[in-house]
Amino acid sequence: MRRSKFFLPTLKETPSEAQIASHRLMLRAGMIRQASAGIYSWLPLGFRVLKNIEAIVREEQDATGAQELLMPTIQSADIWRESGRYDAYGPEMLRIRDRHDRDMLYGPTNEEQITEIFRASVRSYKDLPQCLYHIQWKFRDEVRPRFGIMRGREFLMKDAYSFDLDYDGAKHSYNKMFMAYLRTFERLGLKAIPMQADTGPIGGDMSHEFVILAETGESEVACHKDFLSMDLSGADMNYDSDLQSEVDQYTSKYAATDEQRDPEQEKALGDDLMVARGIEVGHIFYFGTKYSKAMNAVVNGPDGEEIAVEMGSYGIGVSRLLGAIIEASHDDDGIIWPDSVAPFKVGLVNLKVGDDTCDQAAADLYDKLKKSGVSVLYDDRDERAGVKFADMDLIGLPWQVVVGPRGLKNDVVELKQRRSGERAEVSLDSVLSKLTA
Ligand code: ATP
Ligand code: MG
Repeated sequence: MRRSKFFLPTLKETPSEAQIASHRLMLRAGMIRQASAGIYSWLPLGFRVLKNIEAIVREEQDATGAQELLMPTIQSADIWRESGRYDAYGPEMLRIRDRHDRDMLYGPTNEEQITEIFRASVRSYKDLPQCLYHIQWKFRDEVRPRFGIMRGREFLMKDAYSFDLDYDGAKHSYNKMFMAYLRTFERLGLKAIPMQADTGPIGGDMSHEFVILAETGESEVACHKDFLSMDLSGADMNYDSDLQSEVDQYTSKYAATDEQRDPEQEKALGDDLMVARGIEVGHIFYFGTKYSKAMNAVVNGPDGEEIAVEMGSYGIGVSRLLGAIIEASHDDDGIIWPDSVAPFKVGLVNLKVGDDTCDQAAADLYDKLKKSGVSVLYDDRDERAGVKFADMDLIGLPWQVVVGPRGLKNDVVELKQRRSGERAEVSLDSVLSKLTA
């Protein structure tokens, strides 16, 4: 993509409405634009990152055997009346009436919708287990939308739903998602700690929130210090094997969200306790037969008896993750994208637009990079070098290649790694092999 043609409205000034780094940087880097409170348009640069995050989330869901579908954003109030949540949900639900006076709503989540799909089509225990997910916009009329897309009213969520015949099956489904979440967040360059969360009336230990530690986190959390140095990558998963011992490695150590904190355990931990602020990026939850009983989602068991299915739901805040990644990875100059989600891998800067040698070398490199499948943003604008450098640092592409008249005399360009700030002079030939390696 040529910068001169790319729709990238960066800002020089720091927008005064933004209280935290990720919100400030997303506005300054021209990634989002507020449409109304807690509702945003995704501009091309932000949209590219959102799509990259979505792709990683999707790959790791698919790896567990979960299947993607797409449910609508607008739902009928009827199914929510069946589950009893239409009245229980409160003012966070955006309620809509259509022209025939039917009550509709913009879905804040999809348990009812998926249970309705399941009960209409699955009859036998032989068709279990099943896990279905979608990546779809949600709407919650949050009291205090803030921090940009971090707590929006409209936001993108991956939500998966598992259906099993019995508790053991449900636990295995839960464990698969637990491990898949570790892998997902690791690939996004994040250290997400699985923390014991509220299970509500169901009880038990099958509810975890995945939390990124950050000073700007909205809630206080506590965990064993070991989590800081622990490998949270959930490497090489075989989802067919019994995952319990793998999961136990993580759940045997103390980690709790604010309402789950336990003063006794924390006292016993002594110096090993860490209290910090956290950003919730995912939540997995086993809720048994809560919805299947209320909505009559039953299958015929081996002896023909009707069995209400055991369910769980598993959410990831896809759009919130953008903010969380920036909170975890930025400096005074701007964003530092992990390679896996960067909107472009390389930013190519032509220092002297209009100079034949520079124009030719930069255009040549640009073509070759593109042909090798490397995504590149080529700054071909007739702008001061300082402006271009500042812009590149702001938008945080992992690599910068600077083509200038002095270097070209010796057939070299400058290669800068955004994260370390390291610069090196490299030959025109080797820059290509370095960036395609
Ligand atoms: P929170 O406590 O932050 O309000 P929640 O418990 O309501 O979150 P869930 O219903 O479990 O969240 O939704 C799954 C995921 O969706 C959360 O882990 C979070 O990452 C994301 N999410 C929830 N609410 C929002 C929001 N208003 N804006 C952006 N992402 C959100
Ligand atoms: Mg909430």
